[in-house]
Amino acid sequence: MLPYDVLSPHAQGFINHGEIMESLAWAEAQKDNRDLIRQTMLKAGEKKGLGHRDAALLLAGAESGELFELAGKIKREFYGSRVVLFAPLYLSNHCVNGCVYCPYHAGNSAMPRKKLSQDEIRGEVIALQNMGHKRIVIETGEHPDFSPIEYIMESITTIYKSGGIRRVNVNIAASTVDAYRMLKSSGIGTYILFQETYHEMTYNALHPSGPKSDYAWHIGAMDRAMQGGIDDVGIGALFGLADYRYELTALLMHAEHLEAVYGVGPHTISVPRMRTAHGVCTDRFGPGVADETFARIVACLRISAPYTGIIISTRESEEIRRTALDAGVSQISGGSRTTVGGYCQSAIGAAGTKQFEINDNRSLGEIVAWLLERGYIPSFCTACYREGRVGDRFMELCKSGQIQNCCQPNALMTLQEYLIDYADLPTRQAGEKLIRGELGNITSDKTRAFVAECLERIKQGERDLRI
Ligand code: SF4
Ligand code: SF4
Repeated sequence: MLPYDVLSPHAQGFINHGEIMESLAWAEAQKDNRDLIRQTMLKAGEKKGLGHRDAALLLAGAESGELFELAGKIKREFYGSRVVLFAPLYLSNHCVNGCVYCPYHAGNSAMPRKKLSQDEIRGEVIALQNMGHKRIVIETGEHPDFSPIEYIMESITTIYKSGGIRRVNVNIAASTVDAYRMLKSSGIGTYILFQETYHEMTYNALHPSGPKSDYAWHIGAMDRAMQGGIDDVGIGALFGLADYRYELTALLMHAEHLEAVYGVGPHTISVPRMRTAHGVCTDRFGPGVADETFARIVACLRISAPYTGIIISTRESEEIRRTALDAGVSQISGGSRTTVGGYCQSAIGAAGTKQFEINDNRSLGEIVAWLLERGYIPSFCTACYREGRVGDRFMELCKSGQIQNCCQPNALMTLQEYLIDYADLPTRQAGEKLIRGELGNITSDKTRAFVAECLERIKQGERDLRI
């Protein structure tokens, strides 16, 4: 077995099973050590993040109320009250892999298969634009014939050319440095890939066939993406496949590795939870992760990686999303369809191609109204990517807290656009009231005046103003 080395070029070196097991054993042994937990909470309160061992300790032993309070405080300091909104766009569900938890796996002959043409993609994008979305993430199964890198790049071009989508994040299979270089050249935002489970034995059992069955190749994807010039990467684990404590510790070790080697940690961490889906038996995955534990995981991630976006999808119910937002989530999807061609009424073949069940079925408009009611600023901001604030430049601004000077104003401006272009009257009234209040919270006179001027220009018809 390889020794633990955060700088190791080998997956099993930086996601080191021995180190994870020792960290978990140490956390278990210390979980009732109140002094140590108090000291670790104080260290977390300095908002510089925590290492994986400290995070494992807090997950094991910190009192939930204190954990949520600290996570909420850190979130407010780094993110204010804004919540970034996005939607997934499924391009194809043809897949050569055998992931046993996913209905798109190659052996699921009951699954109708569908790949969108460029015309159909245009239709989907127009439907997403008409909802008010500006930021999407494209998703596909892995298939050399149906979704080669050329198809992905052509699709990204189609999406940007369709007009209203300003940032395309990409969630596609682990690939080569050359393919990532090509992807970068097509103007992607964040490259996202979930490890699913970091526990190698579980990974091997759940990925019996296809290129994804290679654990080390899959983990190494983010290294290759960064070597291919992609500045922003998003990691994640599918909670419920293996021991959640193992996944949290490994996720943070992955983040530590990227930071140590490339000087920049992950842009986002996603926390999907195992859900039922057509053609997948979930019984084999055990009882899953309980809601309170799930919220503790989110809080520990927020405390450990204060400047990393945390994403939760519509797999989760309204109630869980509410708790998770308070505990540290900063980005949520809304109005999502997890079918191929699901946004466009005329798209054929969408029925039955769902990747997972949605537990928050509200429309984007309903989610915006809900966020406003709860005092959050729904944000459609994509400014950093478009201003070239990416990678280490972005992280520097995040770590110094200066990014707030951009996020809050941009959130207000993009919300104003949304209210005018898409919202119903009650939502518009609630949103404009919130904007007036939040404008007053901008401390810099110069920035406040600039934002006030931009809000007026947006009301006069200008769009896409940003800091
Ligand atoms: Fe294919 Fe991804 Fe589903 Fe695995 S999880 S079967 S790679 S679509
Ligand atoms: Fe995200 Fe940058 Fe916009 Fe802030 S300003 S919401 S970090 S894109």
